[in-house]
Amino acid sequence: MNNTHYIFVTGGVTSSLGKGIISASLAKLLQARGYNVTIQKLDPYINVDPGTLNPYEHGECYVTVDGAETDLDLGHYERFTNQPTTQANNVTTGRIYSTVINKERKGDYLGETVQIIPHITDEIKNRIRLLENQSNFDFVITEIGGTVGDIESLPYIEAVRQLKWELGNQALVIHLTLIPYLAAAGELKTKPTQHSVKQLLQLGVQPDILVCRTEKHLNLNIRHKVALFCNVETTSVIESIDTETIYNVPLLMQEEGLDTEVLRKLNVKDNRKTNLTNWEKFLSRLKNPTHEITIGLVGKYVELKDSYKSILESFVHAGAENLCKVNIKMISSEKIDEENLETTLKNLHGIVVAPGFGNRGIEGKILAIKYARENKVPFLGICLGMQCAVIEYARNVLGMENAHSTEMNPRTKFPVIDFMEEQKNINNMGGTMRLGAYSCQLFEGSKALDAYKKEKIEERHRHRYEFNNQYLESFTNGGMKITGINPKRDLVEIVEIPSHPWFVGVQFHPEYSSTVANPHPLFVSFVNAALNTK
Ligand code: GLN
Repeated sequence: MNNTHYIFVTGGVTSSLGKGIISASLAKLLQARGYNVTIQKLDPYINVDPGTLNPYEHGECYVTVDGAETDLDLGHYERFTNQPTTQANNVTTGRIYSTVINKERKGDYLGETVQIIPHITDEIKNRIRLLENQSNFDFVITEIGGTVGDIESLPYIEAVRQLKWELGNQALVIHLTLIPYLAAAGELKTKPTQHSVKQLLQLGVQPDILVCRTEKHLNLNIRHKVALFCNVETTSVIESIDTETIYNVPLLMQEEGLDTEVLRKLNVKDNRKTNLTNWEKFLSRLKNPTHEITIGLVGKYVELKDSYKSILESFVHAGAENLCKVNIKMISSEKIDEENLETTLKNLHGIVVAPGFGNRGIEGKILAIKYARENKVPFLGICLGMQCAVIEYARNVLGMENAHSTEMNPRTKFPVIDFMEEQKNINNMGGTMRLGAYSCQLFEGSKALDAYKKEKIEERHRHRYEFNNQYLESFTNGGMKITGINPKRDLVEIVEIPSHPWFVGVQFHPEYSSTVANPHPLFVSFVNAALNTK
């Protein structure tokens, strides 16, 4: 195939129908036929990126290899396709507007009135088409965030309308809707879907395929009805039934013929076989565990599971790899105190302390780490979790009273975690952390090297503070070892306690790079350690 084909995925009726998972599943199916596919997310909010957002707003902030702070759906794209995404895969209204306004100031539109159509829509179209130059993609799947009818997403839908017109049969629109089941009537209802498609039609976009989220199977009558009212063929009404794991969705979409329908509609002549062997192997391991463990995830955003999406998915991958069902107990760090510490943590086979920012819940995290260290419970500290492990060790083992990170206490006598040198003159909060992939050298005899089985690794970062090298000797002599450093800058990347069965703190975020095809070695090793100490 020499032309890039464009697939737009819009959503209607309600949010949270799983557009990201449908997009990722379609990408997986096309990839399994040997096509080169990428997925992009357009987010209607005015933030330039989600880096400055509280996780309660849209869930975790995902970080790409090239250091973009992005929507968590990019995590799904990478986990499903095992392909890295970049800054170009996530576009926000904030980014579009700031580009257009900067161009206006530079004089690029001299003489013109700058308007939503064509200037904003042109910039959106540029961002969509930018990807085809990147890597000869056969398919670019573009997911439009939000729900059709939102004021914020209007320019995106308009850009889709224009592109569909310009690209002809090289583009198609998949609209994801809900077919609710009314228990009192004992019926599935198609009206919300009809209304949602009407709304899209008012904006000039006729969807080609409807993916209908439902809790009950759609019979032929329902499919005919939806097809009739929405101007699509009956074969283009695809059922997306609730399922116990998101990793079933590619297979469910294959059964429903989503990929064949897409290829047929785009006139792509194709008799390639779909190879999902590895995916099916993963699913079979996931569904047939021989062991079970419970890991405590200590963090401060525990009410919303999306806040720790990548960590939770990493445990799904690592669990399958170990043939072990991993239950996650979400534990609010704010609620942990000396009194309830034992009862809260006692039946856990492993403890993870999550990444985060700011002072809220910090003492609870430190207490949980003390418990894991003293009781020899396998421990993984991620970013702030690693920093807390350093603070805990300083205070309780090395006798540095009130040791802290200068993020929480700028006047601490023992600033064992301190502002990174290059951060000292930065005033802007957005996009200015140490972001993206950096290399790390692992040391002989470490748990990390055991896990990765290679000395040089690359991992993604998102932080402003770091281990303070002034205390390096105190820690090394006192039993906490540095087992990974950034070779160029001598920054501490990993700390371990060799006398503990499995105690590892990492300054980077391993969770961002765990995929179905490549479960992350640290998570795999941690789950294995938890199983062994059980
Ligand atoms: N707040 C810490 C820092 O900026 C940790 C960040 C994180 O956990 N991602 O260094």
